[in-house]
Amino acid sequence: MSLVDTRTPNEAHFFLGEDHPWELVIGLEVHAQVTSEAKLFSGASTGFGAEQNSHVSLVDAAMPGMLPVVNEHCVRQAVKTGLGLKAQINKLSTFDRKNYFYPDLPQGYQISQLYHPIVGEGTVAVQVGPDPQGNFESVEIGIERLHLEQDAGKSMHDQHPTMSFVDLNRSGVALMEIVSKPDIRSIDEAKAYLTKLRSILRYLGTCDGNMDQGSMRADVNVSVRKPGGEFGTRCEIKNVNSIRFMGQAIDYEARRQIEILEEGGSIDQETRLFDPVKGETRSMRSKEEAHDYRYFPDPDLLPVEFDDAFVAEIAASLPELPDEKRARFMEAGISEYNASILVSEGAISQYFEAIWERVDPILAANWVINDLLGALNKAGTAITDSPVSGDQLAGIIELISKGTISGKIAKDLFEIVWNEGGDPSEIVEKRGMAQVTDTGAIEAAVDAVIAENPEKVQQAKEKPALIGWFVGQVMAATKGKANPKAVNEMLRAKIDS
Ligand code: ADP
Ligand code: MG
Repeated sequence: MSLVDTRTPNEAHFFLGEDHPWELVIGLEVHAQVTSEAKLFSGASTGFGAEQNSHVSLVDAAMPGMLPVVNEHCVRQAVKTGLGLKAQINKLSTFDRKNYFYPDLPQGYQISQLYHPIVGEGTVAVQVGPDPQGNFESVEIGIERLHLEQDAGKSMHDQHPTMSFVDLNRSGVALMEIVSKPDIRSIDEAKAYLTKLRSILRYLGTCDGNMDQGSMRADVNVSVRKPGGEFGTRCEIKNVNSIRFMGQAIDYEARRQIEILEEGGSIDQETRLFDPVKGETRSMRSKEEAHDYRYFPDPDLLPVEFDDAFVAEIAASLPELPDEKRARFMEAGISEYNASILVSEGAISQYFEAIWERVDPILAANWVINDLLGALNKAGTAITDSPVSGDQLAGIIELISKGTISGKIAKDLFEIVWNEGGDPSEIVEKRGMAQVTDTGAIEAAVDAVIAENPEKVQQAKEKPALIGWFVGQVMAATKGKANPKAVNEMLRAKIDS
């Protein structure tokens, strides 16, 4: 791959060394497990967490003479993902053997796509931020390619004192390897890119994105250079399985490389591993020890070929993706910050979409993000199991919009609905939570406070800001149910007269 620099140096991307700033350059190779019932070349199940070696066909166990057959569903999923990444779809792609020996690889080679991948160049738009003003920077990260390949099995070293075992359940499961260009320039951008990629795959339904189950993992390539200079030598950190760890690994690796370079040394191109306990990367193998995989076209498999109609049919089934959804929400007046949160997960946007057109969308966005997501987060509950349903939250928002309850009482109402359930407007009625808009009742409370505090009234005539104290007294007297605007107006009229 020829390295083309698409970015202008930006101070936000600099790491300060002893002598001068260094610019960070990052490229990610993400392995994403294809959502599919069956494996890439066999009918065996891909179910997670099954008993060891219970999902293994003769193909996955590489019995002599077995022949792989491409799973059409996996091909569709790869094309769908390519379309979601606005990428070139290659109507002809081929499978190659990557030869190496490892106990968890009974075939002695992995079937992958080196020379003609199914998907070529594409882009992912990433929003980095927000900055303290709540603004996001929009950055395009180039995709180099996406190819299909098989996963290997798993060696288990912790089951027996003197032996290691092999579990082949994962052997042959379809993976998409999604290779980015070296366009990423900061830890924040790397995190935003991986988060966005995961969100796109989840929206598409082509990978569940569960990094803790290993369905998505990243090889992280890191180098540093003088700002705007030639690309430096990179190190590749293998198999990073959380976004947080990726940030720590890049930080450690950038500092390590800068230290070496500033001491006049040079970087060895090597493969490294991140140790989350120590927060360090350590060398696994250098380029000299790199494998020669002796790639060659797999003679057991014909090229994958399809026509425009096949691609068009998949394109027609594409759901609305997060970028388009965010733009739609922003058109309704929702801030970029809020819209970005609302589209960050399919389940959040689904919840929001079920209510936002029935109520004030801006108010709804605030309630979903600040109150609902806040409470869910605190309780450690997923939005799909939310104790407050969309209908209930919409009910609460309607009561605020109609002026039946104040924003403050609405918080209490939300808590009641969260804990006890029930219909919001019935609760308001039964518990007498409605705002007092009856001017007679408000006037009585206002008059009482004025009559009891003659000196304060005198002071307030000279210093109008003191009205706030009276508003507080009236609100307390009406147990927070008076309409604060009405109270304020009435107090001003009476005190100023
Ligand atoms: P390989 O197949 O040997 O790993 P590639 O050229 O396909 O090498 O690149 C792998 C990844 O490394 C890509 O994601 C690419 O963006 C990234 N990369 C390439 N050069 C650099 C560099 N100088 N600094 C950081 N990342 C890089
Ligand atoms: Mg690589």
